[in-house]
Amino acid sequence: MRVGIVGGGVAGLTTAWLLAGTHDVVVLEARGRLGGNVRDADVEIDGAELRIDAGAQHISPELFPRFARLLELLELDGDLIPAPQSFTLAVEGMPRPLVVTPHTRADGWPREIVADGPEGAAFVAFVTRAVELEAQDASWEIPLADVVEAIPATTEQREQLMYAACAALVGCRVEEAPSLSARGATALLARVPPGTAPDEAPLWRNLPGGLGRVVVALADAVPNGDARVGAPVAQIRAEGTGFALRDGAGGAHQVDHVVLALPPLAAAELLDPLAGSGDLVDALRAFRYAPVEIGIHREPLFMPARRAHWSTYNISVHDGWSDVTIWLGPTHGVDLFKSWIANRSVPDDELLAREAFEHLCVTPAAVRARRTIAPRQAQGGISFAGHHLVDVESQESAVASAVEVARRLAPASPRLDALLEGRAVRG
Ligand SMILES: Cc1cc2nc3c(=O)[nH]c(=O)nc-3n(C[C@H](O)[C@H](O)[C@H](O)COP(=O)(O)OP(=O)(O)OC[C@H]3O[C@@H](n4cnc5c(N)ncnc54)[C@H](O)[C@@H]3O)c2cc1C
Repeated sequence: MRVGIVGGGVAGLTTAWLLAGTHDVVVLEARGRLGGNVRDADVEIDGAELRIDAGAQHISPELFPRFARLLELLELDGDLIPAPQSFTLAVEGMPRPLVVTPHTRADGWPREIVADGPEGAAFVAFVTRAVELEAQDASWEIPLADVVEAIPATTEQREQLMYAACAALVGCRVEEAPSLSARGATALLARVPPGTAPDEAPLWRNLPGGLGRVVVALADAVPNGDARVGAPVAQIRAEGTGFALRDGAGGAHQVDHVVLALPPLAAAELLDPLAGSGDLVDALRAFRYAPVEIGIHREPLFMPARRAHWSTYNISVHDGWSDVTIWLGPTHGVDLFKSWIANRSVPDDELLAREAFEHLCVTPAAVRARRTIAPRQAQGGISFAGHHLVDVESQESAVASAVEVARRLAPASPRLDALLEGRAVRG
């Protein structure tokens, strides 16, 4: 059959890659480039060109088994850059960060670890609780507030450490963090690649040349290369036994099955006029996103005053927000910074690149919405893929969602078989 895939992010492209060979596929992407939240930035550093990830960047072969296998199958797994995730959390205006965790044993710069005192103890208690929730496979519907308020700590410690750390991971206001799903908000604090020593940072990875290489490899491996950019789908109309998709570039596409691999709020707009989709539309509208803007810069604009307190992942708490700066020095060998700047004022001439995104905030309502969508997969000629459907937003969740679509539409797909072969998989 002919399958129309709406959305050319990692979920849509992986779906196309898995279905191609079994079905005829067309991918329709609204933006001028494929990749969605995977975006390259080309920056010039001292006369040399460097391509870095302006959006999604960090991966873990150990924590992302399906994505790791995809990299292997695309022959991109050979040269991953080690990216230890040391962590600094500082409140703007305070002389010393509240937390500075270890980097590696040979980190190459004189560092001062800050784990002492009541703040260190409160943060350790929080992470320990997050690990317990994960180990117990606690319900994803428990709000973060229920967990945080039960930890012995002061109101200030809860706000500046616990809620701030979780808000930073998604880009919402600190005061919105209590209403996040506790499992969703703490997943990335609780999960550490196996083998991480207590006195070293968890070891994540970066793909040299950026994750855009995955996007290119996936698009190249779709046999007829039918991935169209600048083609925002504006309407889906039931026609005969299939659907007519109309894109904003004037294209019309007749398909037998539609895969909605676009963010849920955009998917809801397309589904709304279709008969019998009311509960799905409501479920898709239950997902919440935070607007995020990322700037790449050379000056350490938002880094701690003392280099001894720098980490690869730095959170600065200010004005009700907690914003991240990723320092690329230890991973990419140049003092280059990637900052969340939507709530900052940064002069344009400081920025080498700037990109806007929407980041998923996993709430208990979103978790319930997933339960409405899951049994409706592939019903009535429509499937759903995307980072919002599985776990927390990541390359792994995008790929895992594509796997679920392929399982229904192309269970005998050789690529599906290869992707799932021989690996334990996180749900
Ligand atoms: C700032 C940021 C940083 C992140 N960092 C990481 C990271 O370090 N590691 C990690 O694993 N994950 C990270 N993520 C998560 C990342 O979003 C996922 O890993 C994954 O890339 C999402 O893929 P997707 O295909 O589900 O969604 P998207 O990437 O959102 O793709 C959806 C696509 O649908 C398109 N679309 C929308 N409307 C229409 C329409 N009407 N017609 C056609 N197309 C349409 C969009 O343009 C987009 O290209 C990050 C996310 C953000 C926002």
